[in-house]
Amino acid sequence: MRIDTEPKLGFKDVLIRPKRSTLESRSDVSLSRQFTFKHAEGEWNGVPIMIANMDTVGTFRMAKSAAEFQILTTVHKHYSLQEWGAFLKKIEPAVYDYVAISLGISNKEFAKLEEIMGSFPQLRFICIDVANGYTERFVEFVRKVRASFPTKIIIAGNVVTGEMVEELVLSGADIIKVGIGPGSVCTTRIKTGVGYPQLSAIIECADAAHGLKGQVVSDGGCTCPGDIAKAFGAGADFVMLGGMFAGHDECDGEVVEQAGQKLFRFYGMSSDIAMERHNGGVADYRASEGKSVLIPYRGPVSNTIKDLLGGVRSACTYVGAAKLKELSKRTTFIIVGEQENRIFAEK
Ligand code: 5GP
Repeated sequence: MRIDTEPKLGFKDVLIRPKRSTLESRSDVSLSRQFTFKHAEGEWNGVPIMIANMDTVGTFRMAKSAAEFQILTTVHKHYSLQEWGAFLKKIEPAVYDYVAISLGISNKEFAKLEEIMGSFPQLRFICIDVANGYTERFVEFVRKVRASFPTKIIIAGNVVTGEMVEELVLSGADIIKVGIGPGSVCTTRIKTGVGYPQLSAIIECADAAHGLKGQVVSDGGCTCPGDIAKAFGAGADFVMLGGMFAGHDECDGEVVEQAGQKLFRFYGMSSDIAMERHNGGVADYRASEGKSVLIPYRGPVSNTIKDLLGGVRSACTYVGAAKLKELSKRTTFIIVGEQENRIFAEK
């Protein structure tokens, strides 16, 4: 046993210190970024926010709406080849840049990836997603996908420490997915005691990835636009969001009425409800590591996107970053014992 005594920080532990700036308004700030990748071919231009590959939020309808804002959707892995075909037939070529195919690490999923990519070679992003990115099997799978798809942009995770980020970048991943346990419907930390405060995970993993010309996406734990700004400030190249995109018209899932209020069921991808839905039950050897919640219905996602982009733009003006790319260079975090004033918070 060993104890690491260096304090590790989450979003709630810090605020961003304002800085003098010459920017006059939020409208002066560009949130678009241009990336080239360690392994993949070509450039990508867009707003570096990703919608999580959860079956409620990472839907085709979400991808279509989010692409209008140049936001990437990691589409969940449960659509069939036929459903992919029906979706891609209806969209404009520009949307291809904002859609990722997700998969786990089974042979069956690899075969489906080959089929989808074979039929729709314009797709550029592959998201290889497992709860625990520390296994040798996962690393081997990343190598195999890279060997089969040398030009595609590979997102892979999840991990939270620099040495594993390096291993994955060197094994063929372009963007490493960072986060274990911070998610809104995740219970990993309760069920297993394993995790890493997200802000420190981003800082450490971004440093490791950037040293090798890789990128990171901070995955999970953002509860408000300010957290997204902190994630970018900490060095995340992309930020992935699940809960903040839940409950919209573009989502899939159960809508219930309670006391005259319309509510939407949102759940973790390893919750009982997700495992019942996709795997016919929770396997004996594993515990459910996700929960299910009912949240207020929120209408079209475009309003939420405008609100969160507005928040990040405003953060940039507070520190004088004319471009999102400059935000982390201009960020000084202060460690705080308070966040917002809760006097009028809903009880
Ligand atoms: P959020 O933005 O809602 O805080 O976090 C979204 C992320 O939570 C997802 O991208 C995924 O990494 C993670 N996640 C989704 N479902 C589950 C689950 O059932 N268990 C765990 N441990 N994490 C989950």
